[in-house]
Amino acid sequence: MDATTEGVLDGIGVGRRGVVGPVRQVRGGPELPADEPAPADPEAAVAEIEAALAAVQEDLTARSAAAEGTTLGEVLGAAALMAGDPALSARAAELVRAGTGRAHAVHDAVEEFATTFESIGGYMAERVTDLRSVGDRVVARLTGQPEPGLDLQEPAVVVARDLSPADTSALDLDLVLGIVTEEGGPTSHTAIIAGQLGLPCVVRAAGATGLADGEIVAVDAAHGRVVLDPDDELRGELDRRSAALDALEADREPGATADGHAVQLLANIGTVADAERAAATAAEGVGLFRTEVLFLDATEAPAVQAQAETYAAVLRAFAGRKVVVRTLDAGADKPLAFANQADEDNPALGVRGYRLVRTMPEIVRDQLRALASARGQAGADAAELWVMAPMISTAGEAAEFVATAREAGLTDGVGLGVMVEVPAVALRADGVLADVDFASLGTNDLAQYTMASDRLLGGLADLLDRWQPAVLELVARTAAAGVSARKPVGVCGESAGDPLMALALTGMGVTSLSMSAGALPAVRHALRSHTLAECEAMAQAALAAADAAGARDAVVHLLRPEAREVLAV
Ligand code: PEP
Ligand code: MG
Repeated sequence: MDATTEGVLDGIGVGRRGVVGPVRQVRGGPELPADEPAPADPEAAVAEIEAALAAVQEDLTARSAAAEGTTLGEVLGAAALMAGDPALSARAAELVRAGTGRAHAVHDAVEEFATTFESIGGYMAERVTDLRSVGDRVVARLTGQPEPGLDLQEPAVVVARDLSPADTSALDLDLVLGIVTEEGGPTSHTAIIAGQLGLPCVVRAAGATGLADGEIVAVDAAHGRVVLDPDDELRGELDRRSAALDALEADREPGATADGHAVQLLANIGTVADAERAAATAAEGVGLFRTEVLFLDATEAPAVQAQAETYAAVLRAFAGRKVVVRTLDAGADKPLAFANQADEDNPALGVRGYRLVRTMPEIVRDQLRALASARGQAGADAAELWVMAPMISTAGEAAEFVATAREAGLTDGVGLGVMVEVPAVALRADGVLADVDFASLGTNDLAQYTMASDRLLGGLADLLDRWQPAVLELVARTAAAGVSARKPVGVCGESAGDPLMALALTGMGVTSLSMSAGALPAVRHALRSHTLAECEAMAQAALAAADAAGARDAVVHLLRPEAREVLAV
């Protein structure tokens, strides 16, 4: 995206808050020596590279342990594994033996791997930032330069080309007012971590790295923009919005429209620490537990007992509420080392999600057994357990999943359902719902597959717009099937956390909305400010629109005026 107005950098906002503060640019990577000679003693140079990689790995492992149980801890662990990858040191050693200097050898090896990651695309492409940050740290050690990063002395808006988890972990978060990156995307680590910390953040803000240290900017996440030298009017607007958002957190009542139509408001989590944080909010439960996040850096399939203990901890954290656990969604953008499929040209259309049952059925069965065991371990007053499978494509797969789960011991009282992420399932929702207890719409993948657009490609963001009428139509069709079958149909993709979309989804008949915990207060407020009939009118208007912008505008047009300022539309 380009800067469209002078003094404004447009990007993609994460969250709804806004903040004003001075810019502090994150120091870039170390300089590569201009004329690095071929090493006189190549074996000694190889040993030095190996020692530097080991030191970086040790440092990242220690930071990962310090952040254990959090998403940051998981991603730092994954970066540590990259530093310890024998293929990386072997390639650097090969280059050194062929006459390349030490720093250039590490740099070149990292760039070769980065090119491969980028060509794989998806999750791997987004890990390139982590890989380069490992390379920068090793080069800094080899050449005696300071580690890349930023030492904050006073509150500031942190600006960077992109932030790796290692950069983020080195920041004093109490001094970070907001984050702006030139690159990255809505699913990059920067965005995920900023979302979890409730920090206003704008990613893909072209021109951000050109901002001067000390320059005063406003980070306006709700509008996805960075405004240079903000005037009093904008400062006032951001302050009022933040105060209004703070006030919304006081409302801890269950989700419902103004006339009392209940819509459960649930949290998306990926770790036990996420669960503990979300349990302290007014979330009525967990609508999506992304279990693959637990195993991003595991090299072997996790044991049943260890899995059961983790799941039991989550069920205990949500005692008296409900927890929807999704079985492993491995593959494509979320590869797991122990569940990877070799040689897929097109992993997003390959063996991913529930399809793992075709190649590694024992991994699927072990997880279902672990869930059954967790239920026993967690005790009678723990959360109600619901289990769903990702990437289901047919009614046959749905029925098979239910049978497999029952065989694994998920019986009496455990709700069994499927995610609706593949257009084929939305089109045949009546038949699929006949075999399951509930369905949950994964609108991130449903949009990707409906619009045939890689969900991680920032350049296709317009096609992936959550308001695309074709996607809305599939959502409405699934929700209507749920209403006729009298079975719950929720939404757990990013659409659910958008307050305007939440109104339209409610009008379509969706029964629950699951989102990052930080998004709950604004969605709760939006629902509370409108009646079910108003939501239905919004759904109709959005579905009748010709394009994505028209669908959103149609809902904005029907908003009650008092909801507008808080929702920043
Ligand atoms: C989705 O696809 O909308 C979803 C919730 O699953 P994930 O984002 O984990 O693929
Ligand atoms: Mg998905």
